[in-house]
Order: sequence, then structure tokens, then C-alpha cells
Amino acid sequence: MPGDLVFMGPPGSGKGTQAQTLVREHGWVQLSTGDLFRDHMRRETELGRTAKRYVDRGEYVPDEVTVGMVRERLREIPTGTRIVFDGFPRTVAQAEALDRLLAEFGRKVDGVILLDVPREELLARLTKRAKEQGRSDDTPEVIGKRLDVYERQTRPVVDHYGRKGHVRTVDGVGPVGEISTRLRRAAESLLREADPA
Ligand code: ADP
Repeated sequence: MPGDLVFMGPPGSGKGTQAQTLVREHGWVQLSTGDLFRDHMRRETELGRTAKRYVDRGEYVPDEVTVGMVRERLREIPTGTRIVFDGFPRTVAQAEALDRLLAEFGRKVDGVILLDVPREELLARLTKRAKEQGRSDDTPEVIGKRLDVYERQTRPVVDHYGRKGHVRTVDGVGPVGEISTRLRRAAESLLREADPA
């Protein structure tokens, strides 16, 4: 049974794009809570309307809503397919819920990758993306708030996994292709460690 990977990184670190590249190369599945929320918001489902109130303010959607959505998505993914969690878990409560959920579905986390980018660089990238893509949460006030929320609520999740000892930190500054290579190496080493052939 292939174990799953958790991708962590602050807003603007590029984890979504990088997760996408990695899963495409290997035929894995990306589970991005940000993408799932945006999809619900676009379709104007009830969950989408609830999420929008938080997303547009740069706050986290309540854990029970987020965890419920992840559980629904997990039902659709075959046990033999490796998942890269992208943007989940983002709170310690979500990390604990994920452990329970994965056990429920006969799955486990093999490793955690943290994409590290300094705050000044994140601010510059997010401000640029705001001009190009017009995401409703990419406004100057909301950008600063999202970075603060990340430090306060998500940093502790890195420590949560760090205590279990299977976290790799990858430098997220540099040419995109090089960062992909660093991530691929980190993922392969975590998977080898979890399942030595
Ligand atoms: P970014 O990493 O740039 O903030 P995401 O697409 O991952 O972008 O998330 C966008 C927004 O969706 C977050 O600011 C938050 O409001 C909501 N969101 C995404 N994932 C979660 C989560 N695991 N828990 C709570 N809220 C989330």
C-alpha cells in the first residue's frame, strides 16, 4: 500500500504548482483543499457559500467543514493510489483528524515536505499574482493576513510532524525546474525511508 505525502508551505510558496508537477510525473493524486473550496465557490454550493466568507477574508475555513470535505474526496480515491495533500492539514486539529481519517480509509502518511520561502519573497510573489490572476483573496490587506494566519496556525503543524521525524524542508527560492528537482528528491527519499525495498 503506497503511503501518502503532505505538502506544506506558506501562501505564495508555489506548493500547489509543484504538487501538480510531482503528481503528474508519477500518476499520483493531488488533494488541494484550496482548489476544492474554489470549485465549490464557483459552483455556488452551500459549502462554497460558507467557505467564501472565510476565504475572502484570508481566514481558515472551520476545521469541521474542511475535514468533512476531505473525507468526501477520500471516498473517491482508490487505496492503491498515492495522494499528495496540498494545503491540508493547516491546523494541529486537522493534522490529528487526518491521522484518524487515513486510518479509517486504510492509508497512512509517509512523509511531509515543507517548501520554505522567506516572507519578503512571498509578499512580492503574491502581490504580483494579485495583478495577474485577480483571485479574490489576493488583495494587499488579505495577503498580509494570510501570511500571519499561516505563521500562527500552520507553523505548529510542522512541529507536530517534526516530532514524528519525517519532515524534509526544501528551499523554495530559485528556478522552478530546480525546485521541482529538489522536491522530487525529497519525496523519493521520504518514500524510500518509509518503505525500504
Ligand atoms: P494559499 O496557500 O495561497 O493561501 P490555497 O488555495 O491553499 O492558497 O488556500 C486558499 C484559502 O482557502 C485559504 O486562505 C483558506 O481560506 C482556505 N483553505 C484552504 N485550505 C484550507 C484548510 N486546510 N483549512 C482551512 N481553510 C483552508
